[in-house]
Amino acid sequence: IEVVGAPVINDVRELKGTVLVFHDITDLKRVEQMRKDFVANVSHELKTPITSIRGFTETLLDGAMDEEKLRKQFLDIILKESTRIQALVQDLLELSRLEKEEMQLSQKIIKVDDWIPNILTLMEQQANKKSIAFHADIEKGLSIYGDPDRLQQVVLNLLYNAFNYTAEGGEVSLHIQNQQNNIALLVQDNGIGIPAEAKQRIFERFYRVDRARSRNTGGTGLGLAIVKHIVEAHHGTIEVESQLNKGSTFIVKLPKKW
Ligand code: ADP
Repeated sequence: IEVVGAPVINDVRELKGTVLVFHDITDLKRVEQMRKDFVANVSHELKTPITSIRGFTETLLDGAMDEEKLRKQFLDIILKESTRIQALVQDLLELSRLEKEEMQLSQKIIKVDDWIPNILTLMEQQANKKSIAFHADIEKGLSIYGDPDRLQQVVLNLLYNAFNYTAEGGEVSLHIQNQQNNIALLVQDNGIGIPAEAKQRIFERFYRVDRARSRNTGGTGLGLAIVKHIVEAHHGTIEVESQLNKGSTFIVKLPKKW
């Protein structure tokens, strides 16, 4: 708490008392701390791939370039690391747009039957790549209200995570159901699951249960933060049910009208 004091003086310059103003600055402090953490996180996330790109480039210039095998191997790493930086910058820009509420949400009645095939095609490709069974169970004739592209991004982010955090031979599914006031979107997997103490934190920027694993799958640690923003901009909610080593279900509820 911050306290500011000022004397109270009457017309004949007599001291009559003191006014004290108490400011609760805990919120301000917390916001400031979050901002610092964010900058530190971004710097760290950028530093690692940049160091690696620089190191491998130097080694190439120092002579490794003459060896065909090393050349290929190092250039592959440089490409992978620069792709990581690109993904990170893209997600950061996206997040900052969402936070500035610059995001112009289009508000449309989205016919799920027309909206879903594109998502399903992408997921079938994904399923073939990793030999994970994918299945969708979508009620017919439903409509969602909001921005079709942003909502597609929500579903795709959740589905890509489900594939990333599930081993070969596993299963991923998408359900869309009609509820009284909401349309519910459920993304389910039988993958590695999320420890109970991490469940609330996974929606924070850069929080990952296992940093190394997320990096290997190309994750930026920002996907769920973006998802949560978009869902909330649609006046919806997102929650997760999960059991370690059994799997996870992400449940998005979108109000039919807002
Ligand atoms: P990332 O790019 O690391 O995947 P996200 O914001 O999408 O970032 O997710 C944050 C963290 O939540 C992940 O690093 C992972 O630990 C955890 N997570 C997200 N989805 C799942 C899932 N389906 N199963 C298990 N863990 C998950």
